[in-house]
Amino acid sequence: MPTKVFLTEDEMPKQWYNLAADLPTPMLPPLGPDGNPISPDMLAPVFPMNLIEQEVSQERWIKIPEEILELLYRWRPTPLHRAYALEKALGTPARIYYKNESVSPAGSHKGNTAVAQAWYNKQFGIKKLTTETGAGQWGSAISFACALLGLECKVYMVRISFDQKPFRKTMMQTWGAECIPSPSTETNAGRAVLEKDPDTPGSLGIAISEAIEEAVTDETGKTRYSLGSVLNHVMLHQTIIGLEAKKQLEKMGEKKVDVVIGCAGGGSNFAGLSFPFANDKINGADIEIIPVEPASCPTLTKAPFVYDHGDIAKMTPLLPMYSLGHSFVPAPIHAGGLRYHGMSPLVSQAVVEGLMTPLAISQIECYQAAMLFAKTEGIIVAPETSHAVAATIRKAKEAKEEGRQKVIIFNLSGHGLMDLYGYDKFLHGKLGDHKMTKEEVHQATRELKGHPKAEMRKTGKW
Ligand SMILES: *Cc1c(COP(=O)(O)O)cnc(C)c1O
Repeated sequence: MPTKVFLTEDEMPKQWYNLAADLPTPMLPPLGPDGNPISPDMLAPVFPMNLIEQEVSQERWIKIPEEILELLYRWRPTPLHRAYALEKALGTPARIYYKNESVSPAGSHKGNTAVAQAWYNKQFGIKKLTTETGAGQWGSAISFACALLGLECKVYMVRISFDQKPFRKTMMQTWGAECIPSPSTETNAGRAVLEKDPDTPGSLGIAISEAIEEAVTDETGKTRYSLGSVLNHVMLHQTIIGLEAKKQLEKMGEKKVDVVIGCAGGGSNFAGLSFPFANDKINGADIEIIPVEPASCPTLTKAPFVYDHGDIAKMTPLLPMYSLGHSFVPAPIHAGGLRYHGMSPLVSQAVVEGLMTPLAISQIECYQAAMLFAKTEGIIVAPETSHAVAATIRKAKEAKEEGRQKVIIFNLSGHGLMDLYGYDKFLHGKLGDHKMTKEEVHQATRELKGHPKAEMRKTGKW
């Protein structure tokens, strides 16, 4: 039996899959500051219209433009691996597969949407993109994409990651982007935070406010903002992962998948792998679909489903999602990409519906899982990805106890070669565990009191 399966470029999917078309209960609409649903043109100062059309689309399949396919061919299709060595180490009868998104130039799945977003912006006549980055993965992916397409790029990087991962900044600069720590003194949003808390580690929510502010205040109208996760069009671009994986599992001779796992920060790599399988589940397949989050930022497992802003300065519309509150600053754990207060509205609605069953795992268990993975499969995964590895190991052990030959697939969203600081702390026993308590969640979400209520609508089938 082969250890990994490739697809040819010809076999790569030519369309993205849009879960919005198939959700048994449709998503609630995003709301403006007045509490009424926003219209697409209200987003026009922030995003180009071609991406806004994708954001609100109800089409099941959306054609990938030929030029975007050509950009993706630089590293796609990505391999699907069978984790024989990990299976052996665990003594599990489960068959474990992983989709290796770490092979993209910037090292994670984020390149999939980065090249698509840069291309659509360029089509629309945009010259410069602003964005935020947590761990630096998104910042490097969008810098890479802007370099390919000749766009200017400015990245607000969450301060704690800026300090911990200086080489991510060097990557962005190598691709020609500008990268500054957030909160910065360059925006009103950044200055306001610094005044209150000069030593803040920063957060994705703050950095998003800064990047949007810069985009909408550019008087030439040629700057737009770009988001690496959370929004519907980002989930859409990532579905190429799951669509490829399904073809590859078939080539491996697998007729059925039992468990699909991805780590979830804003939800995009998880959605990318899982949405095509969620489609099967909606059509009757019996699949367990698990988004995994840090116990220190337990959005899906402990936070309420509410209308909340995507950022601290409330620049974004109110989105229907699980949220710990837009001004929540998570503990400075090493999985920077999972330190986000909210969650993709598409993933959130799928969780409300019961199609997905979230899980929260603490940092130390995740690093232990990552160590075992490195020693067996060889790949040093990103701290974010270690959450998916830890959940996979739990499920494989369960299969062993039950004596069942389950098929488990997880998304290896990125490598950790730029994240060795966290590994170093783990190796020296200097890493802490932080679990958010009910009381802390209650405190954090108090600011949501005045927001419009988000109704939890579901069919009750799952
Ligand atoms: C950004 C990132 C994540 C988290 O973001 P999602 O949108 O939830 O996928 C996970 N893994 C890696 C490697 C990342 O770079």
